[in-house]
Amino acid sequence: MKTYSYGKQNISEADIQAVVDVLKSPYLTCGPKVKEFEQAICDYTGAKYCVAVNSATSGLHIAMLALGIGAGDEVITTPITFLSSANCARFCGADVKFADIESDTANIDVNEIKKHITSRTKAIVPVHFAGQSCDMEPIRKLAQEHNLFVVEDAAHAIGSEYKGAKVGSCKYSDMTVFSFHPVKTITTAEGGAVVTNNKDLYDKLCAYRAHGMHKDGAMANTWEYEMRELGYNYRMTDVQAALGLSQMKRLQEFKTRRRHIVDFYNKNLNLPHLIEKDYSNACFHLYPILVENRENFYHQARAAGLNLQVHYIPVHTQPYYQQLGYKWGDYPKAEEYYRHCISLPLYPSLTDEDLAEIVNRIKAILCIK
Ligand SMILES: *Cc1c(COP(=O)(O)O)cnc(C)c1O
Repeated sequence: MKTYSYGKQNISEADIQAVVDVLKSPYLTCGPKVKEFEQAICDYTGAKYCVAVNSATSGLHIAMLALGIGAGDEVITTPITFLSSANCARFCGADVKFADIESDTANIDVNEIKKHITSRTKAIVPVHFAGQSCDMEPIRKLAQEHNLFVVEDAAHAIGSEYKGAKVGSCKYSDMTVFSFHPVKTITTAEGGAVVTNNKDLYDKLCAYRAHGMHKDGAMANTWEYEMRELGYNYRMTDVQAALGLSQMKRLQEFKTRRRHIVDFYNKNLNLPHLIEKDYSNACFHLYPILVENRENFYHQARAAGLNLQVHYIPVHTQPYYQQLGYKWGDYPKAEEYYRHCISLPLYPSLTDEDLAEIVNRIKAILCIK
């Protein structure tokens, strides 16, 4: 029996050749490919600056550092996300406040954000769940009213648009962070990027990516550098960047196929799923459905060769966050969503035959015709 997982990378011969070419070149890291990849992301998103890093988690971390977020500050994000969207604030000693979701998109709800703003709030981290952009205009407006930064966690959302602007244009935010982990839309094996239109933030991101080191023209000798803040080694390698550059050329092809698969499921499976809003033109990363008995469905799907996944266990219910005072019951919509959600296979190499097969297996499990 053919088995299917919820997501899978798509590597072409051209992708492989791009990596091999770098392996034969003088620079495995700190070479020209990282800059080329960063430029390709700027060209695509319309952002002025891009800093490639070794993961989105690192990207979120240096985004918080660049904003000067630290102990005593609060950062608001959603519970329906991967851990990093919240952890990035904790890395810097700041506190995390969660805001509940909209049930139809599973994205953070701007009215819920409002309830959690205090005098200590510094930033909002909206997450474009499953690839659909959050409603950024009201989020940006609210942030401006309270003098807050906005950092978009767009780990799911390269290729997506909001009101005609590419996610990553930073039209409604200070910075946007992408992930290139193999399950995401394009991959560099591990990797991420932070984009921004702000030169000052860009300079800080570059420094935090590389040990807090600064080199500038005013220094008398080319061997000189100054460490002005405590940075990390969060660099992306040229091997990864070459893969990313090659994958970027395929982004439109990936988006078209992903939308085809989503349309197919929408049409052929009459099951509750996320609603795409008028403001969105998503490059979908996930196709979650809601099922009555999720636990049963999960195990039956595995037995039927469908290795599905749950996105996500609400972050506030993790032992680490419970120890900080959060508990089950704090975010009812997120918890309700979690109890029923399960993500179906969604990746470009699925053929129409695969999709028909997957839909048949799901219908058999749910006893629907
Ligand atoms: C995958 C993911 C991350 C982390 O990405 P890495 O590149 O693996 O560090 C952060 N946020 C969200 C929403 C994600 O899905």
